[in-house]
Amino acid sequence: MTQLELARKGTVTPPMKQVAQKEGVGTDFIIRGLTEGEIIIPVNVNHTNLSPCGIGKGLRTKVNANIGTSPDFCDLDTELRKLQTAIDFGADTVMDLSTGGDISTIRKAVMSASTAPVGTVPIYQAVIEAIDNRGSIVNMSVEDIFAAIEEHAKDGVDFMTVHCGVTEASLARLKKQGRMTDIVSRGGAFLIGWMLHNDKENPLYQYYDRLLDLALEYDFALSLGDGLRPGCLADATDRAQIEELIILGELVERSREAGIQAMIEGPGHLPLDQIATNVQLEKSLCRGAPFYVLGPLVTDIGAGYDHITAAIGGAVAAAAGADFLCYVTPTEHLSLPGIEDVKEGVIASRIAAHAADIVKGVKGAREWDEQMSRARKALNWKTQARLSLDPELSRQVHGKIPASGATCSMCGKYCAMAIVERYLGISAPKC
Ligand code: SF4
Repeated sequence: MTQLELARKGTVTPPMKQVAQKEGVGTDFIIRGLTEGEIIIPVNVNHTNLSPCGIGKGLRTKVNANIGTSPDFCDLDTELRKLQTAIDFGADTVMDLSTGGDISTIRKAVMSASTAPVGTVPIYQAVIEAIDNRGSIVNMSVEDIFAAIEEHAKDGVDFMTVHCGVTEASLARLKKQGRMTDIVSRGGAFLIGWMLHNDKENPLYQYYDRLLDLALEYDFALSLGDGLRPGCLADATDRAQIEELIILGELVERSREAGIQAMIEGPGHLPLDQIATNVQLEKSLCRGAPFYVLGPLVTDIGAGYDHITAAIGGAVAAAAGADFLCYVTPTEHLSLPGIEDVKEGVIASRIAAHAADIVKGVKGAREWDEQMSRARKALNWKTQARLSLDPELSRQVHGKIPASGATCSMCGKYCAMAIVERYLGISAPKC
């Protein structure tokens, strides 16, 4: 039985218990969230070394880090180091998006090294193998697609992006309307190329029940992908995007009926004043399913700093109710990320997620900031470093220009904290 089916029966499973413990909530809260489809716990039955993670309403906002090879750079050791870096700096999940080298071997290695839930996009492998074995994407068969999904499921993948909402209807709307950057989703682009060439419906939509059967067998969660997500501000919240979202809402209901957990992937590029609307639309059209946003990036001109443009959007989205942030690294739009980029992407997204958790009222979020403030007032550098997202960096920066006294070198003997304590007799609170 799947986690969702067990929740409906009122059975508290070990993953549910672990998630409740990590979040500081009761198991009844988790059971209720799972039953209503507002919380998911992606746990493939074959992912044995997994530390489960809950995603959804009332829980801490989660962060995903994408890793993976490309045709231009493929090194398993680098990917495993990226995985470890992502986990070390607090990513809650990782997605292996490899498209270069021996994809199956890379995925198996990532799976066995990852204690965090792992997500993949099986259509990438189906397409690459179709090109290798049949000469072109358009020669990919329906069997190729489902064989890739089954292989990923057998390997223990906990959640899979499936672009089921890229249908003939949503595509027709896109073509009629026109766009600045058309389609920026890799999986969406593959499927659209295949659909147009073969003049056929998207197999992931047409044979959705077959997908549900596989999900039922291995209990992986569906991450219903947004193949038509806006790739620039000019295309944000357009008819094609919303048409796809409506279809995804219907598919969420079918997955719930089948006992399968599902979440919805969202934009992409959005201006700040459209983010909350997008979250509300998703929550309403998809009946409260967890919302997994890819950024969103709030401007198109941040190349080299897109971890920042995404963190701004991520904070606003999560504060409005988004549950899960896909990180963006400084190399977005420019290059495959390296190890340092993974670290910066994770930290930026974690800041966004935590900033939102403070206003969401997530247990422990505000207390963390209060502890840091007490340590700042007390000029307690050791505790400040411990409480920061990157303790090593905090120590290094503090020590870069040594201060003569207990303060830091920013103001030295003119330290406001020290002056107030000396002259006003207001001492720092204990920390
Ligand atoms: S020296 Fe300035 S920046 Fe440093 S702790 Fe004191 S007030 Fe803050």
